[in-house]
Amino acid sequence: MPDLPRLEPHAPIYLDNNSTTPIDPAVLEAMTPSLTTLYGNPSNPSHRYGAEAADAIERARAQIAQLIGARPDEIIFTGSATESNNLAILGVARGNRARGDHVVTAATEHRSVLGPCGQLEREGFHVSYVPVDRQGRVDPTDLGRALTDRTVLVSVMAANNEVGTLQPIADLAQICTDRGILFHTDAVQALGKLPIDVTGWEVDLLSVSAHKIYGPKGAGALFVRRRSPRICLEPLLFGGGQEMGFRSGTVAVHNVVGLGAACVLADQRLASEPAKLLILRDKLKARFESAFPTIQFHGHPTETLPNLLNLSFPGIDGDELIYALGDVAIGRGSSCSSGSVDPSHVLTAMGIGREMALGSIRLGIGRFTTSDEIDKAAESILEAVTRLGGT
Ligand SMILES: *Cc1c(COP(=O)(O)O)cnc(C)c1O
Repeated sequence: MPDLPRLEPHAPIYLDNNSTTPIDPAVLEAMTPSLTTLYGNPSNPSHRYGAEAADAIERARAQIAQLIGARPDEIIFTGSATESNNLAILGVARGNRARGDHVVTAATEHRSVLGPCGQLEREGFHVSYVPVDRQGRVDPTDLGRALTDRTVLVSVMAANNEVGTLQPIADLAQICTDRGILFHTDAVQALGKLPIDVTGWEVDLLSVSAHKIYGPKGAGALFVRRRSPRICLEPLLFGGGQEMGFRSGTVAVHNVVGLGAACVLADQRLASEPAKLLILRDKLKARFESAFPTIQFHGHPTETLPNLLNLSFPGIDGDELIYALGDVAIGRGSSCSSGSVDPSHVLTAMGIGREMALGSIRLGIGRFTTSDEIDKAAESILEAVTRLGGT
């Protein structure tokens, strides 16, 4: 494995891999030609520069399709998973307005799903937010009950970015398919950590992001199933008609190539990497549990991402702990609400009390985390908790 470029020898240990991942050196290598010699415009394949850029994009399209069991012509490249989620939710709702005005999602979704849902409400649509249980799971019966004759789209994430909880996507999608309702899933956190098969899951739309799987920031994709009748999707951007008319704008070739390369690596490592992450996570968990028996873990004990721990040390404020830790980089329970004093909407929806939620921290192990780093990080965190007067 090529070495990961480090800030400096004593840079903090990076345990925030659900927020973003470092770029894999092999991905960087794959991207370099598109940032240097292969500078053609892929929309202009009439000369060699443009043709090679267009070929590179089509190779990347096939690579991402391969990882999720899709066909290449079912992949639309976007600038981020935030854009993919916006395109899926706004695009399907606006494109199917004549059929209905109701969308269903879950209370624990990422802001990039809740944001467009809020926008739909401002446009006159109705949105239902299905609750979750204490472990963060949606009950398929609750989803079934939320559907009406006016429902056009359901969006439920595959794996939660704050607590790691996996949703029963195949069951949820089945309920929707049976009723002719389109199903979208945000699979950003699930990609590369568990097998994804859009056919087995029977989902119609699925979002991914490159920078959560050791690819570059600023690259995402949306899977849109080719079916008849065709899924009506209204674009967000209009112009040159790139990406089959769904996403105008010159494709960022280097980023798309990086996403493709990251997908190839994820595919190769799917059989071994999640198991390695799980071993490191369980080691960290066991160390915390033995030192602080009152520690609270949030999420589901088994139906969860292999690399993530969300926890609270009773009596300790999450922010204080994060700032007290000079040599370990970790996230707050919710990275997206950083800077605000509100407890995470995910933990709140799970019924976790305000104080416990404000105390929560998130640890995310990654491809480049070593066993030695886990030992050091555990001791640092435990030392800081003790210093702050924790249990
Ligand atoms: C990071 C993340 C996103 C947003 O992805 P970007 O590419 O950064 O826009 C969406 N959903 C989930 C679950 C995420 O973790």
